Order: sequence, then structure tokens, then C-alpha cells
Amino acid sequence: MNGFEELKARLKTPELLAPECLIDGRWISASASAISVENPSTGQIIAQVPKLGAAETDAAVDAAAAAFDSWKTLTAKVRADILMKMYHLLVEHSEDLGAILTAEQGKPLREGINEILFTASFFEWYAAEIRRAYGKVVPTPDPDKRFLVMRQPIGVVAIITPWNFPAGMMGRKLAPALAAGCSVVVKPASQTPLSAMAVAKIAEMAGVPAGVVNVITGSAAEIGPALIEHPKVSKVTFTGSTSVGRTLYEKSARGLKHVSLELGGNAPLIVFDDADIETAVESAIQSKFRNAGQTCVCANRVLVQSGIYDQFVARFAERTSQLKIGDGFDLETDLGPLVDRRAAAGVRDILQDAVAGGARILNDRPEFEDTSAFVAPAVLVDVTEGQRVCTEEIFGPIAPVLKFETETDAIRIANNTEYGLSAYFFTRDNARIWRVSEALDSGVMGVNTGLISTAEIPFGGMKHSGLGREGGEEGLDAFLQSKMVCIADVNSNPN
Ligand code: ADP
Repeated sequence: MNGFEELKARLKTPELLAPECLIDGRWISASASAISVENPSTGQIIAQVPKLGAAETDAAVDAAAAAFDSWKTLTAKVRADILMKMYHLLVEHSEDLGAILTAEQGKPLREGINEILFTASFFEWYAAEIRRAYGKVVPTPDPDKRFLVMRQPIGVVAIITPWNFPAGMMGRKLAPALAAGCSVVVKPASQTPLSAMAVAKIAEMAGVPAGVVNVITGSAAEIGPALIEHPKVSKVTFTGSTSVGRTLYEKSARGLKHVSLELGGNAPLIVFDDADIETAVESAIQSKFRNAGQTCVCANRVLVQSGIYDQFVARFAERTSQLKIGDGFDLETDLGPLVDRRAAAGVRDILQDAVAGGARILNDRPEFEDTSAFVAPAVLVDVTEGQRVCTEEIFGPIAPVLKFETETDAIRIANNTEYGLSAYFFTRDNARIWRVSEALDSGVMGVNTGLISTAEIPFGGMKHSGLGREGGEEGLDAFLQSKMVCIADVNSNPN
């Protein structure tokens, strides 16, 4: 059996594994020109997806533009009902969809299924939220005029998604876009297109009309500009690296597109002397090693106050040594491979740079070949602030630990980065919770927890971590625009 058949055989609903793009309601399989999708754990090719270009991108945008007119005029209730169907279908098929995700991305199956439930939660939340997307009547300064504000969908949206949460990042954008009445063209990452295709299947099963959701795969260099510079695209929403985000922002400027960017992070995780040490250690493990360290909100630098430092690093290293590394389908696995061998090589470089600069690895770790996509987790001490492991987004299971003396020092070190996405800190002191949360330059923050993401909250970054917010009521605003109507009374003076 080849990789595709093997994966298909795992599924209760095999039709969900369809390596096909979707344009205007038509599914398109790979032709001679194709992209191979590899399981990073086994190196097996699991599918071939189409390598589309500028012409198909144009066709997808045209389809979305044509479908927009009827989709936006459906009542909010009708769209909400369709979103709720998507929610139920995603939950119903979460095991299959989680398996597809694990096969193409590598994360443990438990995390894959959780990601599908996370994806589903956005459809549930925005189905409810759009029913309450009220406009307003503004108190008038002029007795002969009335002012009202209606909220309308922005138009065709280009959704560009990364490989670390191929379903979750799509859902966080797609659900509010569809709720608002926008139509979309999705360009998933080439490493993980199958989850996006499966979510599009779910949309079709739920009754989303043809052309409202389109999915295209191919070279980013060709599809990217064709999509972003297309005159019929009104908004670009992107999750990915800061460097690509900057390029997309520049390209979007020419057409004055609305832009939302969810970019890289360099999260500090600060443990104060008065923290509950077990909570801090377990949260650091979750925040650092979930998805093998490939989340934009991963703890990137662990800062520990001197009074608790020795105790914390010993326990953190001990717990890290216990993590099981292996294939995502093995139910014992805590950490899968990185998304591909190139990513793993990049993380190994950062680790070697730190070790060459005097850092020490504290935990026990298995050896992997330099050509493997697996990187064993490492707790690093004796690191310095200027090393790559502290200045760059690691995107892998490496945890550099820095010692600090005072709260002021911790805040200075934490904010000493161009990024500002997430931060975590651990303390029992209420006054400190206020002080530190006000002082940290981060869009989202966890106090005494390392897991903070949910559909209900506005998620996004400060500084070079991005623009705009996803989730919560703000996440719907991102796909709506206000239209003001001033109504003058022609018979304002009947006498
Ligand atoms: P990472 O560095 O995490 O691999 P990227 O930011 O490179 O992530 O990629 C995230 C998404 O952006 C992927 O879907 C990728 O194909 C896409 N992408 C990369 N470069 C461009 C580009 N120049 N134009 C449009 N999309 C791009």
C-alpha cells in the first residue's frame, strides 16, 4: 500500500482525503505538474496536489467575486445555520480530519484532533456572533437628519495559511469571513494542503454554495502576487513568518487592500520566585513543546528569577527528559517530527550556535540523524541574550533559560525583541499580575498558564508580530466595513 492508500484506510469517511483544489465548485486533481505532500515522520509521499499558477488564481478570484453577490445577501440566519452545520461536521469527523492533519504535519494525533475541535469552535462562535452584528443609529446633531451605520462584508478575501496549524489557522479566518458574508480564496502552505482541502469538503457538505470557498495550491511565488494584486481581492489575511508578512503588506499597499497579519513571536515565559513551581514547569512544557515547538505563541525564552532558578531548571529538565518523541500516530507520542527536514536543520543550527557560544543542554535526549525531521527537545542553560536562540523565533523544541534578579530586569529582557505576540508569567502576587501584564509588549498573555487560545478572545500581535486581531468580536470586525447613511427629511418643516 502506498502512503495515500494507507492514510485512506485509517479513515471512517475516506472521501475527506481528497488531494484536490476547489475553484467555483469544481474539484481539480493534480496533473503532470504537481506538488508532493510528505509525511515528515516516515518520509513517505502521501499525496500529489495540483501546482496551479496565475491563471487558476484569476479563475478562483473571479469565482469568489461572482459568488460574493449572492452569499452576502443571504440573511445572517441562513449563513449562521450553514456555519453551524460546518461546526457539527467538523466535530463529527474530527478523528478523520485529525488523522489527515497528523499525516501531513507530523503532530501527535491527540493534538491533531484537538486542532480540529479548535477549528470547529470558530464556526460555532461566529455563527452566533453574526446574528448580533448590529449596526447603529447615531444621535443626530441636526434635527432634519438621521444617521445610521450598517455593517457590510468587505468583499473577496485572500486567505494565506501556514503549516503549523493548517486547519486551525484556516478556521480562525474562514469562519468569520463566511459569517460576515465574504467569499474567499484560500492558499494553504504547500507542506500541508490536505487539511485545507478537507475543510473545504466540509464547507461543501454543509451547503456553502459553489464559488464562496475556493482553495488553490501551487508555488507561493506565483500564486502570491496574482492573488494579492488582483483588483477583485479586497482583503488579505495571512498567518506566517514576519518576513513573508512584510512582503505581503508591501504588495497589498499598491491595491490599498485591507490587511490582517498574524506573524512571528518570541514569547518570554517568566517564572518569578513566588510562582507555583509545578504549575510553571508543566505550563512551560506545554507552551514550549506543543506541536514540537512550532507555534507562534510558543515560549521562546524562559526567564527564571534567581531564588527559584536551580529548582526550576532541574525539574524542567527532568520533565523534558520524560517526553516521548515519535510518530504522531503512536498514542504514546508527546512530540512528533518537525514539519520537514529543512525546518529541522534550521532548528539544529540555532541549537549548535547556542552550544558553540557556551550554552549547556541539561536534559537527556535521544540522538537523531542530521538528515531526519526529528529534533529532540533541549533545555539550555548558560545562554546569553544576544544569541540566536534568544533573538530569533526558534520554531522548534529548544528552550533557552535565562536567570534574572528583579521584576524590572525581567520586563526589560522580555520586551527586548522586535516581536510582541504572546507572553507568559507565573506568580502568586496580585499586584504583580497587574504591573507585569501592563508592562509587557504582547498582544496576548497567560498568567499562571501556558495555554491561552480560544475562539472567544481577540488574538494577535504588537510590534512586528502583526496587525489586527483574530477571534472574538474583533475577528468579525476584520471582515466587515461600516457604511454610513445620512437621511435628510424632505418634509422637515411641515408648516
Ligand atoms: P514559514 O516560514 O512558517 O514556513 P511562511 O511565512 O514562509 O511560513 O509561509 C506561510 C504561508 O505563506 C504559506 O502558505 C506560504 O506558501 C505562503 N507564502 C510564502 N511566501 C509567499 C509569498 N511571497 N506570497 C504569498 N504567499 C507566500
